[in-house]
Amino acid sequence: MRVIMLGAPGAGKGTMSALMEKKYGIVQISTGDILRAEVKAETDLGLKASEFMNRGDLVPDDIILGMMKNRLQKNDCSGGFILDGFPRTLKQAEDLGMMLERLGMGLDAVINLEVPEDLLIRRLTSRRTCSNPSCQAVYNIYTMPPKKEGVCDICGAEIIQREDETEEVIRKRLATYNEKTAPLIRYYSGYDVFFSVPCLEAGETMDKIVERF
Ligand code: AMP
Repeated sequence: MRVIMLGAPGAGKGTMSALMEKKYGIVQISTGDILRAEVKAETDLGLKASEFMNRGDLVPDDIILGMMKNRLQKNDCSGGFILDGFPRTLKQAEDLGMMLERLGMGLDAVINLEVPEDLLIRRLTSRRTCSNPSCQAVYNIYTMPPKKEGVCDICGAEIIQREDETEEVIRKRLATYNEKTAPLIRYYSGYDVFFSVPCLEAGETMDKIVERF
């Protein structure tokens, strides 16, 4: 099964992709997670990407496309994948289409998660993330706090607010989404595998997704 997960920052792409990975046994590929790992490891790619990420801008298409071209050819993709946070521009969508065609891969679903903007802002400003790059567990100070304040339940590392999750950067990320990524809804709405689903509560959203398969 091959799936694209669309939605604004904070819509729940990561959460829903992780649930689908578990249910269908297909790999979740998050460009945001890949980039954060590169930033943490201080690679050339990471150093270049962090400037854009910390401002709430998108990382340039050529960097993302080079990265994804390699990723999609790895062995674990042969059984299917969920793309979480990619594509994010029309150029990325067009190039992805060509890459998949070359690899002889079709799409089984393009899922658009719908969430009102005030809820996106609340979700993003209340999010905290485990600082351990190989864990990256996500918490919420209101709905899912860690058992011990500031400490990850899973690995015991420190929990932090991501630099790109301060209110100022979040507003910029949402503006970037509206300008550059929202047009993908129109682009994919012509595909018969495209559908939109509200994402207010993960369990209910998952039920609606499962109904489609
Ligand atoms: P995310 O965790 O998916 O919200 O991604 C965090 C940040 O990584 C974004 O705000 C962008 O700066 C960058 N990023 C992630 N995926 C992409 C992409 N497909 N194209 C460009 N930038 C991306």
